[in-house]
Amino acid sequence: MLKIDHLSTSYKTIDGDIHVINDLNFEIYDNEIFGIAGESGCGKTTLLKTLYDIVEFPLVIDQGKVILSGEKNGQPFSFESGEIRKTWWHNISYVPQAAQSVLNPIVRLKKQFLDSIPKEDRKNETEKQTLDRVSKYLEELSLSPDILESFPFQLSGGMRQRVIIALATFMGPRVVLADEPTTALDVVVQRGILMMLMRLQKQLKNTMVIVSHDMGVHYQITNRMAIMYSGSVIELGPTEDIFNDPIHPYTQMLVNALPRVGDKSAKVGIPGRPPALASPPPGCRFAPRCPKATDRCRKEVPEFREIRPGRFAACHLLNEEVQKNG
Ligand code: SF4
Repeated sequence: MLKIDHLSTSYKTIDGDIHVINDLNFEIYDNEIFGIAGESGCGKTTLLKTLYDIVEFPLVIDQGKVILSGEKNGQPFSFESGEIRKTWWHNISYVPQAAQSVLNPIVRLKKQFLDSIPKEDRKNETEKQTLDRVSKYLEELSLSPDILESFPFQLSGGMRQRVIIALATFMGPRVVLADEPTTALDVVVQRGILMMLMRLQKQLKNTMVIVSHDMGVHYQITNRMAIMYSGSVIELGPTEDIFNDPIHPYTQMLVNALPRVGDKSAKVGIPGRPPALASPPPGCRFAPRCPKATDRCRKEVPEFREIRPGRFAACHLLNEEVQKNG
């Protein structure tokens, strides 16, 4: 499980701190595909990096922490921000954005696999024995072991992405973080990658966290999702519920703007733009674009809380409704 415990991060710049993530407080469970959605610049990638413990200056954790805990091979484990990197590959792995460029184009894939498997995990195996294990794993993922003899530049973008996912999951991590795993791929290849991620999650029964700006990706594969806006999670719940019955005004506008099969009505985007993270408005950051905004919204930051069982949101109107209904 990943517990995000009142987490706030900022970038330190000579012009002052830019608060990228503001007091996030939620949990990502075992055995689920969890989506993180939002417009570009809302803090999705920074959150993912913080979950993976790649927090390097000028990025700084101002408050809170991430706790990665669970059980692997019957052994319980628990790591906090600052220690999570000790368990990279074993219990948590990361498929970065533009992952295809992570592979060295002029080094054969078999060498890149061997280099990425920690020595202690190869025990007394010879290189051939380790490569046999890799080949078997690739076959399980419907990839030909012959690709191990290839150089990355010989493979298509989609195949390179599959290889990166195979590398990231070879050690059976309990959590896999993937940043925009289908960006820059055509629709058919995208579908293949999403199917591969779903199949892997079922096989490993682990947690996958998928960051994507594409709501279609979340609709297709995630079980629960969080919607981010300007550094905060403004709605969180089961994906199906969020698409069928969004409760936060921003999510409602986002979902209403999505094209649907058979719906010929004109779609309107959300007017205006998200605020600059360096100079956000006071109160609710969505207020300048929200048709329901009140004076209170422009002054007070809304609390992120459970509105209905399993449904969380940060909105004064929803909070007031909950208070009214006791
Ligand atoms: Fe709109 Fe106010 Fe809710 Fe923000 S708090 S989303 S401005 S109604």
